Amino acid sequence: MSAVTGGGDMKVSEFIENYPQSTELVARIEEIRSEENRRRDLVQAFSSCAACGGALSLAVQTDWIRGLVEESGECQDCSAKTPRRRYGLH
Ligand SMILES: [Zn+2]
Repeated sequence: MSAVTGGGDMKVSEFIENYPQSTELVARIEEIRSEENRRRDLVQAFSSCAACGGALSLAVQTDWIRGLVEESGECQDCSAKTPRRRYGLH
């Protein structure tokens, strides 16, 4: 699993501090940042255990006949299972 660093946040706030931007631009940057954070949280929610935060081992099964991909995960620390997710292969 790849680690997510918090370095990006620091750089952006330093940038704003050192180079005062227009309110519009700052608002735009904040918007992009919150969108990035939201996506990152989403990815993390699916790659770490909801119960203990441990690493999940993910298994992906592909059903070629029905055209579905089914993804399931189990926590390596507490054995909690994640809800299965299904995608269509389209
Ligand atoms: Zn766990």
